[in-house]
Amino acid sequence: MSNAERVEKIAIIGSGPAGWSAAIYASRAALAPVVFEGALTAENQESGALPMGQLTTTLEIENYPGFPVGDLSGYLSSALDATRLWALPEGDLSSGVAKIISGSALVELMRRQAENFGARVVSEDVVEVDFSSRPFRLTDSNGDTTLASAVVVATGATTKWLGLDSESRFKNNGVSACAVCDGASPRFRDRAVVVVGGGDVAIEDAEYLSKFASKVYVVHRRDELRAAKILIERATRNPKIEFVWNSVVVEVLGDDASGVQGIVVADARAPESDVRRLDASGLFVAIGRRPNVGFLHGALALTEDGVIKRPIPFRSETSVPGVFTAGDVCDSRYRQAIVAASSGACAALDAERFLLENPLETSR
Ligand code: NAP
Repeated sequence: MSNAERVEKIAIIGSGPAGWSAAIYASRAALAPVVFEGALTAENQESGALPMGQLTTTLEIENYPGFPVGDLSGYLSSALDATRLWALPEGDLSSGVAKIISGSALVELMRRQAENFGARVVSEDVVEVDFSSRPFRLTDSNGDTTLASAVVVATGATTKWLGLDSESRFKNNGVSACAVCDGASPRFRDRAVVVVGGGDVAIEDAEYLSKFASKVYVVHRRDELRAAKILIERATRNPKIEFVWNSVVVEVLGDDASGVQGIVVADARAPESDVRRLDASGLFVAIGRRPNVGFLHGALALTEDGVIKRPIPFRSETSVPGVFTAGDVCDSRYRQAIVAASSGACAALDAERFLLENPLETSR
């Protein structure tokens, strides 16, 4: 039977915590899921939409329950296939060293767990979908078509970066896009940090970082914030937060050994003329994120924020019966691995129930 004729019970698109958690639950419900984990291409690298998602960009995950600091090497090398160890940062596999688990290791463990229960992994992107009738039709980057009786879309979101060379150089060495993930690191404690952006995330990040940092500069390109009034009022009262208005970040200063040491900002209205250095040990970029919905070409309804619309709040159903969603592609609020993982489980449970109530002849 060719791929085009076979009808999968469930296809899962995405390979972050939401996708793997959906796959673990779907496998254990005997739905034999196929997971499209994405392709490792230069184009995806450039856009930041790589397989295994945003977690892979964080070296230390301190807030995912179940992973306290410890010597991980024996566990990781016994749980994971030798062929996958290349994806882990060196420190994860050093024995005798207690460390915090990396995002890459955490998501690799999730992938392994899903495979252990029988999930089939396809290392391609889904580039086109047809959700007009069941079985749903997915076309992947290899040109193959997959038919599926139910689908979970868990393609995550892509961080928007400023696009500076110095920003890329210091990623994971003082430059971060997740204050909640990285803010408590010793490198920022009792030192100044910079947040760039003027939306809810930037102001919440500033408030959060003020617990650890000695000072938080919020650099915004205008003189008016986009964030909610209540957040602005709180931040304005916080003595550690200082706003740097009408300003843009033009360079991140530092060296490879110590990481970020300073941030150069310029007047947004005359970037060439007025340049100022802020001493800081970190730059937190909070200028928005793009949910990865391009491949849907309008097949699912979206919210005003651009995430997939969930007609019943906090449930996994989408505008198309039989298509479910989980993780950051449908959540602009929480943006945490643990929340994505739990929503993936919900999506698989909802899909399982849907398939029971709406059977379709499948080949597996
Ligand atoms: P956002 O609301 O789109 O704000 C992005 C901010 O970054 C804006 O202030 C924007 O400036 C600035 N910006 C964009 N591109 C820039 C660039 N290249 N250089 C410098 N600055 C740039 O994004 P967000 O804060 O990530 O929030 C995303 C969504 O989640 C929003 O709808 C938000 O309400 C929601 N959210 C809600 C909560 C909550 O309810 N507690 C918490 C978090 C997020 P301009 O203002 O000049 O455009």
